[in-house]
Amino acid sequence: DPMIVLDRVSKTYPGGKLAVDALDLEVAEGALVTLVGPSGCGKSTTLKMVNRLIEPTSGRILLDGDDVTSGDPVKLRRRIGYVIQQVGLFPHQDVRSNVSTVPDLLGWNRKQATARADDLLELVGLDPGEFGGRYPHQLSGGQRQRVGVARALAADPPVLLMDEPFGAVDPVVRARLQDQFLELQSELRKTVLLVTHDIEEAVKLGDAVAVFAQGGRIAQYDTPAAVLGA
Ligand code: ADP
Ligand code: ADP
Repeated sequence: DPMIVLDRVSKTYPGGKLAVDALDLEVAEGALVTLVGPSGCGKSTTLKMVNRLIEPTSGRILLDGDDVTSGDPVKLRRRIGYVIQQVGLFPHQDVRSNVSTVPDLLGWNRKQATARADDLLELVGLDPGEFGGRYPHQLSGGQRQRVGVARALAADPPVLLMDEPFGAVDPVVRARLQDQFLELQSELRKTVLLVTHDIEEAVKLGDAVAVFAQGGRIAQYDTPAAVLGA
């Protein structure tokens, strides 16, 4: 069974803007699907509905068979890691605390949470000894994004939702983050929905690519090779 199912999902914002129009999408467990298209075509809205940050106007969204619009949103979000462009790290907490906040919330003791944070920092390519005690303002943009990915992975969620995760860094750093993320994903095999406006990023990262068009529709859903050939 697919891990994520969108079944004729629509979203009309208050004021009448139709942001997402009868969207159908299925994402297999362990697949990385990229959502690509110009600004304003409903990509972020789609992610936020999966995370239940906003409610669809109509249609159904299933996560591992469960309807996300019923049930406890806090429990839902434990199964989802969410990474956004401007990672909201807590400025007055060091990197280790920023990453371990999630396991702390899940009731881990401090020692376990610290060990978990350090493992996660290793995983995203940050030496915990060097970076664990730094504060967010002492990091480069790329390093901050990596801390954001580490934090999203903290509770070991099966699903990752990523909204322009590499959008705020320069092209050289972005290419490196993309490569490192692909390596990480080949190990972790999360089910990933990744939003980008960059077609090159979409075909480089995606097992499948959903090309959005204005009006909140998917114009094409295909393999990266087929999307490039189109
Ligand atoms: P994308 O992620 O593809 O750039 P969005 O999902 O952010 O697109 O936005 C889709 C459409 O919905 C846009 O026209 C946007 O202006 C509109 N929109 C987004 N958020 C809101 C909101 N909170 N209220 C009203 N309209 C919104
Ligand atoms: P990344 O590829 O992770 O974005 P950069 O190439 O931007 O890293 O940074 C190179 C080095 O400069 C890093 O090892 C980082 O420790 C250091 N550095 C960058 N910005 C800062 C900063 N604001 N404060 C301290 N060190 C920094």
